[in-house]
Amino acid sequence: MLYSCDVCGKDEEEPERGYILGTSEIVSEPRYWRHYFEANKRVTAELTGIQIRSFEEFVQSHWGKKTVEDVTRIKSPWLLCEDCIDLFDSVDRAKARARFQTWRTTGVAPETGTASLSEVRLR
Ligand SMILES: [Zn+2]
Repeated sequence: MLYSCDVCGKDEEEPERGYILGTSEIVSEPRYWRHYFEANKRVTAELTGIQIRSFEEFVQSHWGKKTVEDVTRIKSPWLLCEDCIDLFDSVDRAKARARFQTWRTTGVAPETGTASLSEVRLR
């Protein structure tokens, strides 16, 4: 089975190494949002015709607010590759790795699920 990293989209066949994060850990990391903005601004401009030039503009925009809400509602675990885990300084890597192993062997990812808006940190 092919898995892709939920942050950069890189595909991996049956990954041996990886990390599982919960939505709370994702939304509380400002670097994730910067990355999201940079990775999606072009395609969003193409789809909507709206040019959003800066991260601050993104945060204030309807698109930004809707994106934040949509992401907090993600229930499924986040699979991260070796590169993307570097965005998450405050995450306990050993724990995220252990969750990955549990998820790989049992299909269950502990400590994951939706987040609340109060957990979001954009800056
Ligand atoms: Zn990645």
